[in-house]
Amino acid sequence: MGCEEIHFGPVWFIPGVNRGRYPYCHSLYIQGPGIIIDPASDEKRLLEIRDLEGVNEVWLSHWHEDHITYLDLFPGAAVRICRRDEPPLGDLEILLDWYNLSEPHRDHWRQVLTETFRYRPRRADAYLTEGDVHSFATTTVQVIGAPGHTPGHLAFYFPEQEVLFVGDYDMTSFGPWYGDRNSSIEATISSLRRLREIPARTWITGHDTGVFTDNADERWRRYEDIIHQREANLLNLLARPHNLQEIVAAWLIYKKPREPLAFFEFGERALNVKHLDRLMEKGLVVELNGRYVQA
Ligand SMILES: [Zn+2]
Repeated sequence: MGCEEIHFGPVWFIPGVNRGRYPYCHSLYIQGPGIIIDPASDEKRLLEIRDLEGVNEVWLSHWHEDHITYLDLFPGAAVRICRRDEPPLGDLEILLDWYNLSEPHRDHWRQVLTETFRYRPRRADAYLTEGDVHSFATTTVQVIGAPGHTPGHLAFYFPEQEVLFVGDYDMTSFGPWYGDRNSSIEATISSLRRLREIPARTWITGHDTGVFTDNADERWRRYEDIIHQREANLLNLLARPHNLQEIVAAWLIYKKPREPLAFFEFGERALNVKHLDRLMEKGLVVELNGRYVQA
């Protein structure tokens, strides 16, 4: 399968530029009601769909910038998102807070968000709620709560087509992201297990992989295992005391320094902090004068 545009009846997979890798994502289009989900895939194709098919609503799986870039193509469309993920959509400073960004990174990201991601404050016109079923003449959509990556992250299931859009539980070999202020490893694991139970026959990811139909169980298992492997690697490292800077310099998560360094160091730190918190909660690690070590 992969990254070509595919139509599952009225449910269209719209591949993102560069396989939907950051700063792009994949979009869905629902023909009939005219809904675009996650409008940050391919500006040219989104414009065609808007002008030839019509877009009445934009739905967002979550608040991240790489899912909202082309929202400005649809000024008249109603925006829907989970209520818990709405605050960053309406206020850039809240968005920066939710990434735990401090100066000088904050100033850099303010500019990137405004210029590259075309960020403009937008309010939700209505909310998407876990468990809701939206019935249209062409298809039915079930809204599936899948928090963890963000507090209000949603997946979408189309039972007639047996298609599940999993958003940013994207099945990449890197593994899941849960490094924001309000991200949660526990919630991510629960969501992965919930999504795994949905009786889909086709899965669509928000990035990279795109559409797949094979080895779903194995893919879910491998994807969740990355979380446990990250934690085991960190615990091993902490056989001897390390401060946070030393932990980041071990590149347990990204495996090696990558460019731009500031971006990947930020990610390495954010994910490790979540694992440190979890290991301390479990009583497996303690902090002594800014250094972390196995309990
Ligand atoms: Zn995301």
